[in-house]
Formats: sequence, C-alpha cells, structure tokens
Amino acid sequence: MLTLKNVSTHYGKIQALHDVSVQVNEGEIVSLIGANGAGKSTLLMTVCGDPRLSSGSVEFMGQDISQKKTSDIMRSGIAVVPEGRRVFSRLTVEENLHMGGFFTDKGEFDSTLEHVYQLFPRLKERQNQRSGTMSGGEQQMLAIGRAMMSRPKLLFLDEPSLGLAPLIIQQIFDIIEQLRSEGMTIFLVEQNANQALRLADRGYVLENGRIVLEDSGDALLTNEEVRKAYLGG
Ligand code: ATP
Repeated sequence: MLTLKNVSTHYGKIQALHDVSVQVNEGEIVSLIGANGAGKSTLLMTVCGDPRLSSGSVEFMGQDISQKKTSDIMRSGIAVVPEGRRVFSRLTVEENLHMGGFFTDKGEFDSTLEHVYQLFPRLKERQNQRSGTMSGGEQQMLAIGRAMMSRPKLLFLDEPSLGLAPLIIQQIFDIIEQLRSEGMTIFLVEQNANQALRLADRGYVLENGRIVLEDSGDALLTNEEVRKAYLGG
C-alpha cells in the first residue's frame, strides 16, 4: 500500500533521513521505533510532503506521491494523528471531529461520526466539552477519532502513548488493535518499543536517519540488539 524507496530528506544542509526504504502492506500494523531525534516524525511527514524528500520515491496505492501537495496526499487516503495530539483546544469535541471530516462525503459523514462515537464512548459523553479541558488520554482519543473522520485507508500514529499513564496507554493500544481488526492499515511511530512491537506485524528500527533493522514484530522483540537498546535489556 505504501512504499518508500531510498528516501532522503534534508532540513537545509542537515540530512535527517538517509536512503530509507519502508513498506506497509494493506491490513498490517507496521511499527517504526527509534530514539529521540532518530528521524521518526520526519519520515512520517516526508510521506505527507512536508518536508519534501530530496531523493528517492514514495508510492501510495500504486501512485507516486513524492511530488504531490500535502492536501492532495491527505485526500488520497492518509490521515495523521500527530505527536502531541494537536487538538483544536478551543473547539468542542464534536467540532474537532467535524474538522477531521471536512472532506468526507455528506452521505458518509453521519455514519462515520457514529462509528467514531462507538469506538470512543467517552467522546460521545463529552461531545460538547471544549477539547482543551480534556485529559491527555481523552485528547489522544479525540486526535485518533478526528483522523478517522476522514475515512482514511492508512492511518499514521506519531507517538500516541507519549506522556500518558500506563492504564491509558493500554487503552490506546487496545483501540489501535481494534482498528486493525476492522481492516485499517496502521503505521505506528513509537518510543514505547515494547508495546509497539507487540502489536506490530512488522517493525523497523531507525537510528540517526537510517533503517538499521527490519523484521517481524515478534522477531524484533527478541532481537538482542533491540532488547539492549530499546527494551531495557
Ligand atoms: P522525537 O521522538 O524526539 O520526536 P524523531 O525521531 O521523531 O524524534 P525528528 O523529529 O524527525 O525525530 O527529527 C530528526 C532530526 O531532524 C533531528 O536531528 C531534528 O533536530 C531535525 N529536525 C526535525 N525537524 C526539523 C526542522 N523543522 N528543521 C531543522 N531540523 C529539524
């Protein structure tokens, strides 16, 4: 579904990604793990066209999207749940969901909203609450719900567990699992390597802008180097 081939990305003179090749197949959860500053967010954002790659190619659903505008890439079926959630804090929960569904067909909007409320009953309870007053976990649910409103084929999640309590993290990962069981394809970027690899069909390890390992989630979980560097031994 998504193929990055030898992608390099620069910020000015600084090279953040070096010859990165990654594949996400339909129906998979693919996890990308790596330390702070490894380039995980840059990889996600490069697929979205900002920053623009400096060499290589990105293909989505059989089309080269390397030179497309970000808005066109989003409309072609990719939705991003950004690091730090970035909900519109002065808007209510339901208004945030409306923003996510801005380009959704009128005929599909209501059923999509209903589906999001089924996935996240808490959002339904809080539909008129200003989102900035919600807890971190609730805001994360809202960020995922907002992304789902565009009925994406591929969902990018950038560090969904960041800053959340263990119990809430478990809820978020349960939701990701549920989305997969409904057929969603998911590319998950995480520093929480343990959880991310448990969930993943396949995973990649990014170090200093380079993919240094790729394997099934299970194999990476038991890989000696991964255990030492990312799983606390
Ligand atoms: P984190 O988990 O801390 O978000 P990350 O793995 O997502 O880290 P990136 O945010 O992609 O890493 O950053 C990769 C490198 O690119 C870092 O060295 C960072 O300083 C640099 N970088 C990121 N964004 C910019 C920018 N807008 N301008 C210049 N350099 C940037």
